[in-house]
Amino acid sequence: MTGCKSILFIALGAILLVVSSHGRDHVVKRGETLSRIALRYGVTKDAIISANNIRNPNLILPGKRLTIPEKSSITYAVKRGDSLSIIAQRHGTSVSKIVSANGLRDANSIQVGQKLKIPTSGNSSKASGSNAREVDLLGATLVNQLRAITPTRGKWKGIVIHHTATPEASAKGLDNYHRQQRKMQNGLAYHFVIGNGKGMRDGEIHIGNRWKKQQDGGHLKLEKWNKENIGICLVGNFQVHYPTRAQMDKLEGLIRVLLKQCRLTSSKVTTHKLKHKNHTVCPGKLFSFLALKKRLAK
Ligand SMILES: [Zn+2]
Repeated sequence: MTGCKSILFIALGAILLVVSSHGRDHVVKRGETLSRIALRYGVTKDAIISANNIRNPNLILPGKRLTIPEKSSITYAVKRGDSLSIIAQRHGTSVSKIVSANGLRDANSIQVGQKLKIPTSGNSSKASGSNAREVDLLGATLVNQLRAITPTRGKWKGIVIHHTATPEASAKGLDNYHRQQRKMQNGLAYHFVIGNGKGMRDGEIHIGNRWKKQQDGGHLKLEKWNKENIGICLVGNFQVHYPTRAQMDKLEGLIRVLLKQCRLTSSKVTTHKLKHKNHTVCPGKLFSFLALKKRLAK
């Protein structure tokens, strides 16, 4: 284990060259924009805005002295199989920030060996542009609540979606059922439950104890799968009716937060049926996995 780690560390060291620039000043010249200044110093526009408390980024007068924040990017050499979204997720930044930091014309055409500036400043300090979608879908309070739980590093390899196959249910009822009928010590087998207005509020996300405590799920047949898959269950029977709009919105938001936290791409999201063919129809034929994938790809 330690051997693997040190090899990985050496590999990372070889491809990541930290730009050790110290904080410095820049006097704005006529015709300069913040984006251009940001590009020149290899920092993000947002980092300059927050370092200087700029209220109107479009009104930067010549002669103004700006503090350019330090150490705001690293250089990364593109590897085979990389896409900008994979690189962005790995570094906790967004595709658009990498595109603007590098002045890329086409986000889809990067080449193996190409050196990219990866903005690192301001990624974790506050909800930046890249988190806007999650905040829109879930609200800042819930996003912060989710972020307060740190996933066990490297444990989670995928996300599996289920339905309850009942018209109504609550997290509490499911917890009782799993404890008493299914004899599960840890109760509720899923990490999350999303209500449909019957038993729980429509779109209400219940964060299960197994997630809070970072325990294995109990939602899949094989123990090996339960160890590494996050289980999200939507209340409803999607063989006979559709999930609600609120359920799909919250599901998208929740998955977005989890993918970032666990450093996974949306290709790691699946359904119970896809995971275990010929065994179950869960989460039902009226649950559109394709629509969800499209939403996640945006
Ligand atoms: Zn299922």
